Amino acid sequence: MTLDYPQLAEEFGTPLYVYDGEVLTNVLTELRSVLHPSLEVFFSLKSNPNISVFGMLQRAGARAEVSSLVELRTVIAAGAKAEDIIFLGPGKSERELTACVEAGIYAIVCESFDELERIDRIAGEHRVRQRVLLRVNAACAVQGSRLTMGGKPRQFGIDEAQVLDAGQLSYEHADVAGIQVYLGTRILDATVVARNTKYVLELADRVAETCGIRLDAVDIGGGLGVPYFDGEEDLDLQLLAKEMNPLLTAFAQAHPETRLIMESGRFLTARAGTYVMKVRYVKESMGERFAVTDGGTHHHMAAVGIGSFVKRNFPISLLNRDGDGEEQWNVTGPLCTPNDTVVKNAALPALRVGDLLGVERSGAYGPTASPGLFLSHGFPAEVLVHDGKPHLVRERDRPDDLLRVQRLVDFEK
Ligand SMILES: *Cc1c(COP(=O)(O)O)cnc(C)c1O
Repeated sequence: MTLDYPQLAEEFGTPLYVYDGEVLTNVLTELRSVLHPSLEVFFSLKSNPNISVFGMLQRAGARAEVSSLVELRTVIAAGAKAEDIIFLGPGKSERELTACVEAGIYAIVCESFDELERIDRIAGEHRVRQRVLLRVNAACAVQGSRLTMGGKPRQFGIDEAQVLDAGQLSYEHADVAGIQVYLGTRILDATVVARNTKYVLELADRVAETCGIRLDAVDIGGGLGVPYFDGEEDLDLQLLAKEMNPLLTAFAQAHPETRLIMESGRFLTARAGTYVMKVRYVKESMGERFAVTDGGTHHHMAAVGIGSFVKRNFPISLLNRDGDGEEQWNVTGPLCTPNDTVVKNAALPALRVGDLLGVERSGAYGPTASPGLFLSHGFPAEVLVHDGKPHLVRERDRPDDLLRVQRLVDFEK
């Protein structure tokens, strides 16, 4: 059932992010139901760090993959169990590592030998052993991902060759007991995900043998995509299950004690989110139509379409009425830059001032990956609809919120 966007816009104002709790739950439930039961899904908060979004996914069985102190505190506040939290990221601070050790999280995903020594020291100071998964920078790139990670010099992880040359990895307080490999993002081809998984599982055995470590956990990464643009298609979950499950079954049989982890952000949240904007002005310029809205790319940077030469549009629709006809519209925002174009030449009905437009599939990498402070507009409100009831899960930034953190120098002193 589709949500009552005009009512939500009325109640919470625009621009507004709306998350459909039913979609959030269903996507995760379906993914978990098709994949091998021993595969645990860890939600990457990077894609949507809202505490209630995580809370909802957690109810449906998600664990937590975090990459900052605040993300760690978010999942703990939402009730995540320590054994279901991993912390990952190339530049963890002393404070973050200490917080991980103090919380007793399941594993720190370690990205360099330097960091390994630091974890060993911090765990030693706390008189505990901290489980560590080594992030391996794979020697080869796997095709079919929008952003391949392996086979290149990277700040992430430790090169496969360095890991395999390291010999016995034995530390007193850093308990190296597994690996993590992340081979790319936005993958829409099930066969590519399966091939990545095969690579990681084989590598895990090699590393365990050459480094003399246990495999308490193997984190196969993930990178499951959702289609945004014309010509892209949904990941085929049946095919994914058909290709992945035999690999997982064989590995689980050979390693009954090993936790199998998949990380996912975008796939779990993108489809649940809609960015709702209201049209403020309509105009024409040199033969093109513009709808200037109260929302823009400062809340939805992904819509700008970085990395692609030709602008490709996110799916967008008119939310407040059945419009007639089909015209070409540029939908823009309040920023003083031509880049503040949410969609370009998109097919939409004739638009009027006051219309509500929704950018769909916007639940991942929305506000969290956008320059919300540009032109001092601040971040929008976020609402999660659960069992038909809307909950405000993030307040809109108010002018006072933005001004309070600034200081005016007294130039006369
Ligand atoms: C960004 C990231 C993820 C989440 O990626 P999605 O494509 O949103 O699923 C998972 N793991 C690592 C290491 C990442 O950097």
